[in-house]
Amino acid sequence: MKLIRFGEPGRERPGLIVDGGRRIDVSRFGADYDEAFFGSGGVERLARWLAKESPPIVPDGVRLGPPVARPSKIVCVGLNYRDHARETGQAIPAEPVLFFKATTALAGPNDDVVIPKGSTKTDWEVELAVVIGRRASYVERDAALAHVAGYVLHNDYSERSFQLERGGQWVKGKSCDTFAPLGPFLATPDEIPDVHNLRLWLKVNGETKQSGSTKDLVFDVPTLVSYISQFMTLLPGDVISTGTPAGVGLGQKPPRFLVDGDVVELGIDGLGSACQRLRRWNDQ
Ligand code: ZN
Repeated sequence: MKLIRFGEPGRERPGLIVDGGRRIDVSRFGADYDEAFFGSGGVERLARWLAKESPPIVPDGVRLGPPVARPSKIVCVGLNYRDHARETGQAIPAEPVLFFKATTALAGPNDDVVIPKGSTKTDWEVELAVVIGRRASYVERDAALAHVAGYVLHNDYSERSFQLERGGQWVKGKSCDTFAPLGPFLATPDEIPDVHNLRLWLKVNGETKQSGSTKDLVFDVPTLVSYISQFMTLLPGDVISTGTPAGVGLGQKPPRFLVDGDVVELGIDGLGSACQRLRRWNDQ
């Protein structure tokens, strides 16, 4: 299944993309796509409910929100593609590099992205994100995929001066409002034959900047779910963003950062595409 959430920011309702790309409104099912939904077999219950119902169509032009209601956490993995580690001048890590992104950074896949107040180095990162379906604590690698609800396209926006030049942890450069556009949809694992062979790409103003494959992940999805679960409990609905391949703005020669009016398009095989326009921060 392909899960969407649609409507005004903060008031999204659940939907699905069904055969032929039609978008349907499953509000009558009575549950948003949140921790309670994923943690109680919601995907399977929704499939059974759908077999007996004919939900209304979502009108064209309705905004998409992130396909997961605000999760307890967004865990990100740094330097998880060799070519990206190289372009940033860092060594390939011996163990996964983890950092957090604030959940208030979540945005819809096609929402405007706000260049934060004082920013000079706002950057892009196309990433495969994993959504947790079952509580995961000290999970073995072999059992890890049973804890996955699905996969989703993510742009891990990053302010490089906040991240790298202001001391402390990366979280400062990763958590600004709108810095986590998620979607267009969450694909359940049956929709993705091989999560470790997906092409991912990103363009800025029509020019290709990133073009990679998830076959080049340093640490694969089951390894990451298992590894993270050794340090914290992953709850249903939590998001793990698995890292970005080469071609970020920081790695360009000279570096290229985003400015007001830039348009970023990105996509992953089987997970659709998204388009974000950058606009400068203002306090209105
Ligand atoms: Zn990233």
